[in-house]
Amino acid sequence: MTLKEHLIDLESEWSAQNYKPLPVVLARGQGCWVEDVDGNRYLDMLAGYSAVNHGHLHQRVVEAAREQLDRIGLTSRAFHNDRMGPLVARLCQLLGYDKAILMNTGAEAVETALKLVRKWGYEVRGVPPNQAEILVCHGNFSGRTISLISFSSEPQYRAGFGPHTPGFREIPYGDAAALEAAITPNTVAFLVEPIQGEGGIVVPPDGFLADAQAICRRHGIWLMADEIQTGLGRTGHMLASSAEGVHPDIAILGKALGGGIYPVSAVLAPAEVMDVFRPGDHGSTFGGNPLACAIATAAIDILVDSDMMENARIQGDYFMEELRALQSPHIEEVRGRGLMIGVVIRRSSGPARAFCYRLAEAGLLTKETHEQVMRLTPPLIITRSEIDFGLRLLRQVLT
Ligand code: PLP
Repeated sequence: MTLKEHLIDLESEWSAQNYKPLPVVLARGQGCWVEDVDGNRYLDMLAGYSAVNHGHLHQRVVEAAREQLDRIGLTSRAFHNDRMGPLVARLCQLLGYDKAILMNTGAEAVETALKLVRKWGYEVRGVPPNQAEILVCHGNFSGRTISLISFSSEPQYRAGFGPHTPGFREIPYGDAAALEAAITPNTVAFLVEPIQGEGGIVVPPDGFLADAQAICRRHGIWLMADEIQTGLGRTGHMLASSAEGVHPDIAILGKALGGGIYPVSAVLAPAEVMDVFRPGDHGSTFGGNPLACAIATAAIDILVDSDMMENARIQGDYFMEELRALQSPHIEEVRGRGLMIGVVIRRSSGPARAFCYRLAEAGLLTKETHEQVMRLTPPLIITRSEIDFGLRLLRQVLT
């Protein structure tokens, strides 16, 4: 048995089988490249589901973590620490929000946002007890907790995990008229991904977010953007919402906020909303810990003073253009924005997973989402020649 087979066997024997990974066992990573236990190199075009926007082990992120680890790692929020205040101030000033709360995973941050708007609904808006409603979109993905899967439109995500959390209603993604029609006096917020990631890299019609913002304002409800995947440069903008000139009332960040090495998430909101949380209402042992804050501060600094975001725009446009020009008989559509790209594989060509499998064998890592969509979301530091390398492999496998 090879080392690779042994390691895969260990996982199947001793771990829950809640994922179905491609048979690649990674041991190292640097920039856009990863290496498996046998020393084979791959171009990483998944980037940890967009958590590795900065590339693997970005030197400044690693230095920030090392420096912090020479001082203190975890304090809990029972005490203050010298890293959290500067980070929340920086995030709010940079992105134009009154207040921020730090969590760890994306799912936790979305849960936090849901708690905030519910409590605001009861305390400020006067919604009758336990009647608050939050509108969501068909095809949404916000994580895997019980409440988040309760409003998933994916039957597998929900099945077997009931009873589900009430208080959510779904509208078709991209349908502003449906949003307006769904609002009731008990509606407190609309939760939306500016581009649906897990849903299949679905870009809504032009103007949808701006219309949604106008509707939310008209009805006095909050527009909450789940920017966990789209935010922090992925689409060529700090927030994907700003591509439409929209400043969401509440922004939810995660993934790349951890610089590709650590889970850090955040909710940014108006004071009117954030101030409904009082001591004891919410918390997390690890949320806002000094190590997380040092890493997130470096992650933000790099985004601001490097050309990563511009690179995402430039390389993304080039990549999409070249993918469309492949004229592959297997490709139905190429869609996305910046370096958040979905390649839709024709049903007649079989599932996208088979192509991901062949690409991995050739030296390019990516992953399907749903049956037919292959996502291409490399680190935002990817160069033109690395994209050209990827295109050669994609051409080989797809044409
Ligand atoms: N929201 C969006 C848009 C996501 O894409 C994801 C993860 O893929 C999440 C939330 C959940 O984040 P996490 O896996 O860190 O809980």
